Amino acid sequence: MTHGQTAHASILRRIDEAATAAGRPGGARLLAVTKGQPAAAIRVLAGAGQRAFGENYVQEALAKQAVLADLDLEWHLIGALQSNKCREAAERFDWLQTLDRARLVEPLAHYRPPGRPPLNVLIQVDIDAEASKSGCRPDEVGALAQAVAAQPRLRLRGLMAIPAPWPDAGRRHAAFARMRTLFVQLRQDHPGADTLSLGMSGDFEQAIGEGATLVRIGTALFGARR
Ligand SMILES: *Cc1c(COP(=O)(O)O)cnc(C)c1O
Repeated sequence: MTHGQTAHASILRRIDEAATAAGRPGGARLLAVTKGQPAAAIRVLAGAGQRAFGENYVQEALAKQAVLADLDLEWHLIGALQSNKCREAAERFDWLQTLDRARLVEPLAHYRPPGRPPLNVLIQVDIDAEASKSGCRPDEVGALAQAVAAQPRLRLRGLMAIPAPWPDAGRRHAAFARMRTLFVQLRQDHPGADTLSLGMSGDFEQAIGEGATLVRIGTALFGARR
């Protein structure tokens, strides 16, 4: 096993242990975040069975997709979506995790190729208003979810957030708990929403304990980014 594969196996084990401890065995999965990593690193993890990969920048992702076209991978866009990138986002990704405004909904649906399954969409929430610039306000989630659900070419899958990295565990906990509450509310109107994307290298076990079903991990898999 290469270093990458050893780290991958160890992260998968920790994810499973945290999900089991939370009473949801098998209830959390790994998104490998590969911004700044070469396509070769993705290929190594794919060889270890990893399918879902997250990229922050559309151009960087497209270049790697071209080199890895022989693999059957699931690509998530996890960086802020600019309106002039809606077309590539809809055409070239399986998931968009960062929808945060209603006026991008129609262009995304318009550009989603008819031959592909609907684009999976997570609504990004700015859960720590003071810290983050991306994401909608918590009170905007309902209307945005309705707009996505009304589009047959899009599939509303849930919520995503990047909570501020408060050193204080209590504040981090409060942000995770607010996301969990929003997710429960969302599921009342949209029972098909099954994904809460929360948790990164430093806090994924805590996030799973708070209900995360998808954790986005870069550094803990690959080491520090160049
Ligand atoms: C970079 C990034 C991650 C991964 O962060 P690590 O701390 O390296 O695990 C997760 N989510 C988003 C949105 C990111 O931009």
